[in-house]
Amino acid sequence: MKPSDFSIIDVLDFQPDRGLVELENRRVLIFDGNILMELRRMIVENLGWKECQPVIFHYGYEVGNMDAKSLGQMYNWENKEEWFQAGTIMQTQRGFCKTILSYLAFSPDERHLMFRGRWFNSYEVDSHKHLKLTDTGPVCYVLCGYLSGYASYCFDREVLVQEQECFHRQHCSFEGRFVEEWGEPGIKFMEASKDYDLQHKYAQLNKQMAARRSQKVPKNKDEQTEDITTPKMLPFRSKNMSRVLEMAHQVANTVANVLITGETGVGKEVIANFIHSVSPKTTSKFLPINCTALPLTLLESELFGHVKGSFTGADRNKRGLLIEAGNGTIFLDEIGDIALSIQAKLLRALQEKKVRPVGGNTELPIMARIIASTNRNLEELMREGKFRADLYYRLNVFPIHVPALRERRDDILPIARHFLSKYAPASLGFSPQVAHILENYEWPGNVRELANAVERASILAGKQKIQLDHLPPALTVSDQACVFNHVTDDWPSLEELDQKYILSVLDHCEGKKMKAAELLGIGANTLWRKLKKYQTD
Ligand SMILES: [Zn+2]
Repeated sequence: MKPSDFSIIDVLDFQPDRGLVELENRRVLIFDGNILMELRRMIVENLGWKECQPVIFHYGYEVGNMDAKSLGQMYNWENKEEWFQAGTIMQTQRGFCKTILSYLAFSPDERHLMFRGRWFNSYEVDSHKHLKLTDTGPVCYVLCGYLSGYASYCFDREVLVQEQECFHRQHCSFEGRFVEEWGEPGIKFMEASKDYDLQHKYAQLNKQMAARRSQKVPKNKDEQTEDITTPKMLPFRSKNMSRVLEMAHQVANTVANVLITGETGVGKEVIANFIHSVSPKTTSKFLPINCTALPLTLLESELFGHVKGSFTGADRNKRGLLIEAGNGTIFLDEIGDIALSIQAKLLRALQEKKVRPVGGNTELPIMARIIASTNRNLEELMREGKFRADLYYRLNVFPIHVPALRERRDDILPIARHFLSKYAPASLGFSPQVAHILENYEWPGNVRELANAVERASILAGKQKIQLDHLPPALTVSDQACVFNHVTDDWPSLEELDQKYILSVLDHCEGKKMKAAELLGIGANTLWRKLKKYQTD
């Protein structure tokens, strides 16, 4: 058997019906090289690149070592050199890269070993470029590990392969020797790869993560961070929203009145409910009332109650919500829209902590906490004389502003997925184009609009993945328009457009050039050159 006669097809056993692919009784999985790189990126981001190198190397080493064993058992090789050469072919046929061995010298006394070669199409280089990872020097640690592990098995002594050049002129070059022949640094690296102290690292990481978690949410009482995702809350990962919930937590343990502001559909009632649910009042009632939904007299009797016969239709006594809420929370939605006469009555009730039902003469004490909300600009309404300043200051003891969805784009997809799993649990998800549009649309109707769009799309898509034509037209039209909106105002030249676009991306990245270059898909040097040019123009 010559190395060049070797074919991986002969040794692979495909049993698709049984869900098995085997290589000499070893289970083999077929999956995307980029996924492996993504996993690597996650580990690198947590442990640091230098720390990771021996770990990544070790992974390749084990695969190579087992391949050498398998190939040694399956075939009779003329000598160790040929057995090793079969390994370079195996590395190629496994799809790691194309390995060309250019030099191999194994001394007759077996004391010295040296081989060199090149790797073309390294999957590690490809994934590295695909994921646009920042330049970290040589990246092919799995390839080095593989050949090291393979050679160590067939030469029966530790061999270390190191990369001399990585993706230099479309290829990488490597060199292998017995580990001692690399001197101290080689020996140390090999030791680190075999005896990596992950336990210690894990402990460190756990500590860091715990510290980070405790920074995120202030711990009130015995509350754990899990409280932040009570079933009533929508998922979020933006800092904006995390800040809102921190504030909600802070105020929950007090009796202060809260004013929640934010555009229509941002979920102000959800925040109010959240404050109620983490407060000591949680066992009492949460009573929401939409102040615009009711005509004046009805709203008045709804809030303050009435006595029998106080007006036409009042055929029995009614307790108002301010009393009905007892020790709980009353949520006054759209407070900016209530009439001045009710504002006066509400102010009196809040000042005196007492309420007199319509047509009644006895006053009843108010114990409930008031949370109000509005999408209007109350300061403006005050200037226009449409909202009482004294009531405003009474309600606005602790203001919380809920950001619009477009101000926290990181939350859009998690929320969209949440609604999708609610409306269509068996859905196959969003196509990448749909995800892009969802993330970039302006969402004037905020979370409510997003929920409606997802529900509509899930109905149209049925059992398919959600595609562009399942989205409401408003979303797809604006996506095309937004690219050209500003451009068609003055039809700039390509260079002017380049300049405008680069500056606005830089603006978006808050002046961070590395981030801007990454977004633009150009090198940092190119960006620097262009900026220099535009600044002197
Ligand atoms: Zn390389």
